[in-house]
Amino acid sequence: MKVTSSEIVISAVKPDQYPGEALPEFALAGRSNVGKSSFINTMLNRRGLARISSKPGKTQTLNFYLINEILHFVDVPGYGYAKVSKSERAAWGKMIETYLTNREQLKAVLLIVDLRHPPSEDDIMMYDFLKHYHIPCIVIATKADKIPRGKWQKHLKVTRETLDLVQTDTIIVFSSETGEGKDKAWSVIQSYM
Ligand code: GDP
Repeated sequence: MKVTSSEIVISAVKPDQYPGEALPEFALAGRSNVGKSSFINTMLNRRGLARISSKPGKTQTLNFYLINEILHFVDVPGYGYAKVSKSERAAWGKMIETYLTNREQLKAVLLIVDLRHPPSEDDIMMYDFLKHYHIPCIVIATKADKIPRGKWQKHLKVTRETLDLVQTDTIIVFSSETGEGKDKAWSVIQSYM
């Protein structure tokens, strides 16, 4: 898909703030620093768009991006910050859970993981959560440019096995540095619309 327009339309913390339109939505989840903002910027051909509220200490919100006027990306705050307090973590969990389990427009979650390393405990927990609620998942294994192409398959296998990926979920090798996987990611997203 060729992206011709993208903008942040709303930062929401509760359902009455979600956009009213019934456009298909794709949520983006991943642990902090995994490369989620870079993924969004690469997919949207934008440099600094996905930065603003993804930094530690900032208000944790669901950021809705309107793309080509036909779909929304929903940026979910990164998980796994050691620094946040227990109560902050609980509030984060509640907000995400409310969104993921109740939103009819949600077509799939893009789970961003690091191709270099086996998925973390938090990644596994997120994936299990999605499977529990029968939410389709597209796994984006990013930072592929940091390992030689010849090792991709081996790392993919580890990622797939660690998550215990179901057959219907897709995994895509990605790099925000080189644009690897971008076309594939768009075509998989479109297959869910
Ligand atoms: P976020 O916290 O998940 O939003 O992560 P960021 O997108 O801010 O990325 C964290 C760090 O990883 C930054 O220094 C990025 O430049 C770097 N990074 C993100 N994606 C890639 C990638 O595909 N390749 C490489 N080499 N670095 C990346």
